[in-house]
Amino acid sequence: MGLRVERAAATGFCFGVKRAVDMLRRVAQKRGGVETLGAVVHNRQVLRHLENIGVRVVGSVAGIQGDTVAISSHGVGPQVIEEIRARGIDIVDTTCPFVKRAQVAARRLAESGFFTIVFGDVDHPEVKGILGWAGGKGMATQDATAFTGIDNPQRRVGVLSQTTQIPAEFARFARQLIDSALVKDSELRIIDTICHDIRRRQADTLSLAEESELVLVVGGQTSANSRHLVELCSRVTETYLIETADEIRSSWFRDKRRIGVTSGASTDEQTIDEVVKKLESLT
Ligand code: SF4
Repeated sequence: MGLRVERAAATGFCFGVKRAVDMLRRVAQKRGGVETLGAVVHNRQVLRHLENIGVRVVGSVAGIQGDTVAISSHGVGPQVIEEIRARGIDIVDTTCPFVKRAQVAARRLAESGFFTIVFGDVDHPEVKGILGWAGGKGMATQDATAFTGIDNPQRRVGVLSQTTQIPAEFARFARQLIDSALVKDSELRIIDTICHDIRRRQADTLSLAEESELVLVVGGQTSANSRHLVELCSRVTETYLIETADEIRSSWFRDKRRIGVTSGASTDEQTIDEVVKKLESLT
């Protein structure tokens, strides 16, 4: 008997990635190519496709060779924008509006004299960009004690989240801060900056995982939101993160019949179709 494959309700590009890829396609077509500062999305298949239409990734402002550069959907800090402008280079800004909302929140917190804590991965470009807007008065961590453990912590603190974090984990982090960082005269401002698409995708994926004996998350190994889907699904069922159909191992399905397929926000529909097709061909 074959596998019963069910696909999550929300798969494929999220709103922000679709918008960024469409913008890049248009610019590359018009100009015969364009450079992007950093990978525009964390997905190798999508990057390869973009490369084929003339989109070239550069690692730093110093590495830009042309007169136009695209900023990725993850966004950058204001210092980077100034650096690009200082070189007289035009900017195509594909920063996702949800990321922009977090950047604006960080800027407003800094203007009001708040220290900003971003709940997220300190090495992720989106988090670095948001911290840039906090004007150097902030930190990123997923461990509340990293802030509460410092001597004389700030009294006015704003708390934001990387857009792709798990809502329940952000709430847990905020509660820990309330429990240990609220001292005399202190002020804590918590702003939920988790993206709506991610919230819906995580909820859909979790209900799929609850009805599946095994879940495949199709997404890049470096994609933060794909890894969070794996984390959520692994709590209820066996889960694997794969980039393409070639990574599927038939040994995973020996005693399994109900298979769920979901994807990260930067995975294209074609790659997901190939995964579903391969699963359906297994007996
Ligand atoms: S996951 Fe959300 S915040 Fe990130 S690019 Fe997509 S829509 Fe924007």
